[in-house]
Amino acid sequence: MLHRLTISELTARLARREVSARDAMQACLDQVARVDGDIKAFISHNPADALTQADAADKSIAAGADFAQQPLLGVPMALKDVLAVKDHPLNCCSKILGNFVSPYDATVVEKLKTAGAVIFGRLNMDEFAMGSSTENSAFQTTRNPWDTSRIPGGSSGGSAAAVAADECIASLGSDTGGSIRQPAALCGVVGMKPTYGRVSRYGLVAFASSLDQIGPFTKDVRDAATLLEVISGYDPRDATSIPQPVPRYTQALTGDVRGLRIGLPKEFMVGGLDPEVKRAVDAAVTHLQSLGATVQEVSLPHTDHDVAVYYIIATAEASANLARFDGVRYGARVDGADPLEMYGNTRGAGFGAEVKRRIILGTYVLSSGYYDAYYLRAQKVRTLIRQDYLRAFEQVDAIVTPTTPTPAFKLGEKSGDPLQMYLSDIFTIGCNLAGIPGLSLPCGFANVSQVSTLKSQPRLPIGLQLLGKPFGEETLLRLAHAYEQSAPWHKEHAL
Ligand code: GLN
Repeated sequence: MLHRLTISELTARLARREVSARDAMQACLDQVARVDGDIKAFISHNPADALTQADAADKSIAAGADFAQQPLLGVPMALKDVLAVKDHPLNCCSKILGNFVSPYDATVVEKLKTAGAVIFGRLNMDEFAMGSSTENSAFQTTRNPWDTSRIPGGSSGGSAAAVAADECIASLGSDTGGSIRQPAALCGVVGMKPTYGRVSRYGLVAFASSLDQIGPFTKDVRDAATLLEVISGYDPRDATSIPQPVPRYTQALTGDVRGLRIGLPKEFMVGGLDPEVKRAVDAAVTHLQSLGATVQEVSLPHTDHDVAVYYIIATAEASANLARFDGVRYGARVDGADPLEMYGNTRGAGFGAEVKRRIILGTYVLSSGYYDAYYLRAQKVRTLIRQDYLRAFEQVDAIVTPTTPTPAFKLGEKSGDPLQMYLSDIFTIGCNLAGIPGLSLPCGFANVSQVSTLKSQPRLPIGLQLLGKPFGEETLLRLAHAYEQSAPWHKEHAL
């Protein structure tokens, strides 16, 4: 059962030499073999290489390695297919990258390796991280481990499902408009988007550069703190990373939240919110109050514009970022009579429908005549949205909301209706537009009928979202940890 452990539980046992890294790795590989035919979280993994890495970790442990220096030593991890790992394939779950193999490590990957992690697989995602259900992957559709007829969320659906199904101990994903927090909520795990600039984006394939951040998926809050501490920090190779010292995030987990002020944005508790989600979030707020936090209403008056502003700014940036996939520099090429035709053929065949939709939309909002009307105005409203949050944080230490308006929806339920899909992100997008940190953790289950599970448990996880001031990660982790200690929903396993 080693695959079920958290990072802290596994490394404690490794340090005491009760178990080996090889056994832990083998347990995860066995779990992948057992369940991934149904879950489909992994698009590739290499068992032989994984065991070689685990053996190297065991050697270091035998030679007296210091877990304080290498907090992930021997920990099996897998990564979203948007992060560069030297000599591993990198596809962003798109056909356009063909047989591309990454020539270098992303900064976060370097940091994971230095910390001793065993990186053994690549996880499914919506193509170029565009989506909320992982149904836009060009390779396969990941299923929610709590109910295999439902989506795991997206775009980091593979990262969330793999952790929820105990196929790896922890994973990384990226979050541009909710792609870590939303799948974490729907799969019943902890997911965190750090402050913009907290974690280097070097080696993360860009979707919308002013919104993208990398963050952890874990089985509990302590592990999120551990991973965040490892991957954070200034990086001269990412001009938007911020030179702020990295706190000891695990030391923020004091268990004491007395006196912390929590804000409930009145604009979030609106129509469309599933009654089961509302019930669970209300109960979590009452619970936090009983632990000594104070609760007050706050207002984020521009919330109504979040989705529209996001889908202008994100598509504009995507249209520029994805211009590099031209059949010349990377991956696949479909020939044509001249270069222009070759570009068209390559991009026509290589990109899926959602990516094309975004490129067209983004090109339109940036085009002359429309730039001022759409892009520039969206940027101005983005500033107002950020100001709303900063003003709210003059009164409170954290904001609490549902992570998603509903529990996991059915496969195919929204894939034919892009607008419905976009609206499932209403609670997560503001955080990216404002550049602030956000965390989702399990806060209960919705009882639903018609559930097809691998085991007979008709329940779907619900996520609680905590939002913080810029560089307020410690407060979020402290609150989340205190809640989790006395409301241990995270201890339930999907499989
Ligand atoms: N679901 C949102 C989108 O489709 C967010 C994606 C993300 O955070 N990468 O753009």
